[in-house]
Amino acid sequence: MNRRDGGLRRGRPEQPKVDINTLEDIVCECGEKIFTQLARFKKIPALMSNTGKEQLYPIIITICAECGKQLLLQDAVKDSSGGGLQ
Ligand SMILES: [Zn+2]
Repeated sequence: MNRRDGGLRRGRPEQPKVDINTLEDIVCECGEKIFTQLARFKKIPALMSNTGKEQLYPIIITICAECGKQLLLQDAVKDSSGGGLQ
């Protein structure tokens, strides 16, 4: 049995203080404004992890609730951990 304790790492970029009402809505190509978040998980082998144990690395994916197209924020703050998003 493998232990998975402490396997999650979250990138939490600091958010600037802004008035949310003034911000632009993200709209999908299909016109939908509702998105949902799913996650893929990468498994970091014990040999490559800092702790020497296998770890799970979550990759959050945002998709349109209507057409299922993945939302790609090119200008978003990138996580420095260098996960290869495809
Ligand atoms: Zn859509």
